[in-house]
Amino acid sequence: MSDAVASERQQLVAAICDTLLPALTAAGADGSWGASASALGISERVAAGCETLPPHVAAAVESLLGSLGEEGFAEAPLEAREQRLIEAGESEPGRFALKQLKTMVFGDLFGSFDENLGNPIWEEISYPGPNSAPPSPQQAPKTIPLETVSGAEATLEADVCIVGSGAGGAVIAARLAAAGKSVLVLEMGGYRNESDFRQLEAEGVAMYLGGGLGWSEGGELGLLAGSTLGGGTVINSMACRPTPEDVRADWATMGLEGVDGPEWDGYMETVWAQLGANLEATHYNSNADTLISGLQACGLEHHRIPRNAELSDDPQFCGYCNAGCQHGCKRSVMKTYLQEAADAGARFVVDCTVDRVTTSGGRATGVEARVGETRLTVSAPTVVVACGGIESPALLLRSGIGGPAVGKNLRVHPSYMVTGVYDEPIEAWNGQLITVMSFDFMHIDEDDSGFYISPLGLSPATWAGQSPWVDGRQIRDHFRKFPMMASWHSITHDHGSGEVVLGADGRALVRWSLADEVDRRVAIRAHTELAKVHQAAGATEVFTFHWRPRHWRRGEDFDAYLEQLAATPTAEYTAYSAHQMGSCRMGSEAATAVADGRGELHDTKGVWVGDASALPTAPGVNPMVSIMVLAERTADRIKESVA
Ligand SMILES: Cc1cc2nc3c(=O)[nH]c(=O)nc-3n(C[C@H](O)[C@H](O)[C@H](O)COP(=O)(O)OP(=O)(O)OC[C@H]3O[C@@H](n4cnc5c(N)ncnc54)[C@H](O)[C@@H]3O)c2cc1C
Repeated sequence: MSDAVASERQQLVAAICDTLLPALTAAGADGSWGASASALGISERVAAGCETLPPHVAAAVESLLGSLGEEGFAEAPLEAREQRLIEAGESEPGRFALKQLKTMVFGDLFGSFDENLGNPIWEEISYPGPNSAPPSPQQAPKTIPLETVSGAEATLEADVCIVGSGAGGAVIAARLAAAGKSVLVLEMGGYRNESDFRQLEAEGVAMYLGGGLGWSEGGELGLLAGSTLGGGTVINSMACRPTPEDVRADWATMGLEGVDGPEWDGYMETVWAQLGANLEATHYNSNADTLISGLQACGLEHHRIPRNAELSDDPQFCGYCNAGCQHGCKRSVMKTYLQEAADAGARFVVDCTVDRVTTSGGRATGVEARVGETRLTVSAPTVVVACGGIESPALLLRSGIGGPAVGKNLRVHPSYMVTGVYDEPIEAWNGQLITVMSFDFMHIDEDDSGFYISPLGLSPATWAGQSPWVDGRQIRDHFRKFPMMASWHSITHDHGSGEVVLGADGRALVRWSLADEVDRRVAIRAHTELAKVHQAAGATEVFTFHWRPRHWRRGEDFDAYLEQLAATPTAEYTAYSAHQMGSCRMGSEAATAVADGRGELHDTKGVWVGDASALPTAPGVNPMVSIMVLAERTADRIKESVA
C-alpha cells in the first residue's frame, strides 16, 4: 500500500471512529468524556487493529471502507456521516463491519487504562476499576513446570499427546499421567496465574481465543472461548450444573453406552469433588437480588447455583472473575487436574499451536506444531484433540481426518442480553457473576427447546461495544447510567446447529445463523420474558443488544414494546456464545459422528476427542461439568485401549 493510500485509509477509519465517537462540543472542550475518538488516540489504534482482523471480519470492514471511501465520507459533516452509518447498518456486510468497529471504538474508550491502571472515563460512569492488586509471583508461584523448545526444528516424544489444556484436556492429562503414561500437553495460550490477573477487562482478553470477542462468518454470533493454560475454566463464571437426565438418556441412545447409568454418576461425583462445587460460597449481589425480585413478582421460581469456588471466596473481588480470579478462589483445572498431571510427570508446552495431527496407515503418529519460530514435531501413538468446540474441528479438518461429520452439529447455547436501568444503584460489576437461575422456560418449544435466565457480569467495554448506537451523545448519556444497570441474560438450548469450516487462512470459521424457526421463537420469547422480569423488578428503562435500539422507558406503552421485540427482524439479532459444543461429536454412526461411543475417531485409530466438541448434543445447561465428566469416561476408555 502506498503512503498516500495508507493515509487516505487512515483518514477514513478516523472519520468512522469520530462519527461513532465525536467530540461533544465543537471545541471538544469537556475533557476525555467529551473528546473525539481521534483526540483520544482511539482512531489510530482501531486502524492498526484493522490490520490484524481475521479474514472474514477484515472483508466486511474493507467492503464498508470501500463504499464509504468512494462517497467522500471523510469530508462530510457529522450529521451526514451519522446518517450514512445508520444506512450502512441496514445491509449485512455494513452491519457486520460496524459491529466490529463499534466493538473496537467503545472497547478502547471504556477498556483502556493508564500506568496507574485507571481510565478517566470510568469516573464519568462511576466504575471503580480494579479493587485490589495481584499477589507477587513469590506469593503466587507458577507450580506447573514448562518444557521449553527452541531452534528452527524440535522434536518430542510421548505416549499420549494432548492438544488443549481446558476442561476436557486437563482431565485426560491427569488420568493418563496417573496411570504412568508419558503425557505431553500442548497449549496454544500462555501460562497465567493470580500474579498476572490485574482485574482489567482489556488485559483479560489475552486469555480468550483470538484475543477477545470473535464473530461467526456474517457477524450473527459473537464468540467467547478461553485460550490459556487451563482453557475456559480460568476465565469462566464458575456455574456448576450436572448434565440433565434426559440429555444423558439421549446420548445413550446415540451410542454412548452407560452414560445414563451409575458409571456416569461415579465420574460425576469425582468431578464435583475435584471442582469443589458448593452452594455455601454462593452469595447474591444486587444484580442477582434484583433479578430474584423480578422473578418473584412474575410468579417465577429461582435457584441458588453451585460454583467451583473455595469457601474463602470473597464476593468483593468476584466482579472481575472473567479476567481470572486474582485471589485464587476459582478452582479451575489449573489448580486441580493440570496440577495433578504435572505432579505425576506430565510435560507442558505453552504458546504452542498445533497445526496438524499426523497419521500413517489410519493410525495416529503424532502432531506438528509451532512454538514461536520453532517447528515442533511430536511422535505419539495416542493423540487427544481437546482444543474446544471451535478449534478441535479445525484441527481435524486441517489434518484431513475425522470423516464427514467434522465441524457439523455445532451447538452454541445462543445467549441474549437484556439490560434494565433502575432508580437505585445496582453496581452489577460488583460481586459474584452467576449465582442464581430460573428454569421456568427450559422446555417451551419443540424438542425441549427453551432457555434459562441468569444474571451475568457487567463490564463497561463489553456493554458499550455491544449496545445499540444512535449517535455519540446518546451513547455517552446512556452510559452515565452504568451503575444503575442490571445485566441478565437467557441461555437458550439450541434446536438448530451451526458448522465449523476452514477459512481462507486455514483457521476455524464458524457458520451460524438464527435460521432455525424454533430457535427464533425461543429467542423472541427470551427477550420478551427478560423484559417482563425487568419491568416487574421496577426497571425505569429496558434495552436489548438488537442492532437498532429496542428501548423502553417508564411511562411508555410496555405491551407495545413487547410487540416491537417480537416483530424485530432476524437480521437485527446478535446472539452470543460462551459454550461451543458438538462439532466433533461422539456417536455410533460414522456418517453423523466423528468419534465412536468411547471417544476414538471412527476413521483413525489412536486419535481421541476429549473436550466440548465431543458432546453428542447440547446439554442445555452450563457445560463445564458435562465436558469434564465425559472426559473422565474417555480417559478410562483410552487407558483400556493403550493398556
Ligand atoms: C466467559 C465465559 C464464561 C463461562 N462460564 C461458564 C460457567 O459459568 N459454567 C460452565 O459450565 N461453563 C462456562 N463457560 C464454558 C466453559 O468454560 C467451556 O465450555 C469449557 O471450558 C470448554 O472446555 P473445552 O475443554 O472444550 O475447551 P477449553 O476449555 O476452551 O480449552 C481448549 C484449549 O485448547 C487450546 N487450543 C485451541 N486450539 C489449539 C491448538 N491448535 N493447539 C494447541 N492448543 C489449542 C485453547 O487455547 C484452550 O486453552 C464459560 C465460557 C466463557 C468463555
